[in-house]
Amino acid sequence: MNILAFGPNGSGKGTQGAIVKEKYGLDHIESGAIFREHIKGGTELGKKAKAFIESGDLVPDEITIPMVLETLAKSKDNGWLLDGFPRSLAQAEALDKALKESGMALDYVIEIQLDRDIAKERIMGRRLCANDNNHPNHIAFEAIKPVEKDGKLVCRVCGGELSARADDQDEEAINKRHDIYYDDKTGTMAAVNYFKNKGDVKVITVDGSKAINEISEEIMSQLD
Ligand code: AMP
Repeated sequence: MNILAFGPNGSGKGTQGAIVKEKYGLDHIESGAIFREHIKGGTELGKKAKAFIESGDLVPDEITIPMVLETLAKSKDNGWLLDGFPRSLAQAEALDKALKESGMALDYVIEIQLDRDIAKERIMGRRLCANDNNHPNHIAFEAIKPVEKDGKLVCRVCGGELSARADDQDEEAINKRHDIYYDDKTGTMAAVNYFKNKGDVKVITVDGSKAINEISEEIMSQLD
């Protein structure tokens, strides 16, 4: 099963992606997380991407598109859930073309809709687990609240160290990322509409303001 997950930063897309990935044994491919791994590992790609990511700009397509397509090509048999890509109409067209050429089918598009102001508020409270990117933690959500250990907040799943992403604490970077997401001419909403309008893929649209478990139940009930 191959799935594209869309939703503005802060909509709970990563949290829902982790739940779906777990249930169906999919590869959870997150373009932003791949970039962060490269930065952490000090690779050439990481060095090239760093400044763009810190400021909330898109990493150029000549770096991003091959990186994501290579990861997709290596994914395992159960399929993948792709999160963070495509983020523009040009990336949507490149992905569509690559899928056709490789004979890979796209089965579902999940779109988590959320008002921009609420999404912005939520971004600042999320925390990254040092051990596993699929351990969502958020200081404002009971269901995924970090736990306290020795006077410090740690990952609620594994007790790992938590950090906040620099681009999640920078209002300008958040605004830039949302400008790109909500742009329906050439940005991410244009990519969402590109796949919606193709008509050959099932679209699951959910309201991101609902509770985490309500959203995941709604998504699961529509996945075969
Ligand atoms: P995310 O973790 O999805 O919020 O992504 C973090 C950052 O990585 C973004 O703000 C971009 O700088 C970069 N990035 C992630 N995915 C893409 C993409 N599809 N195209 C260009 N840049 C990306």
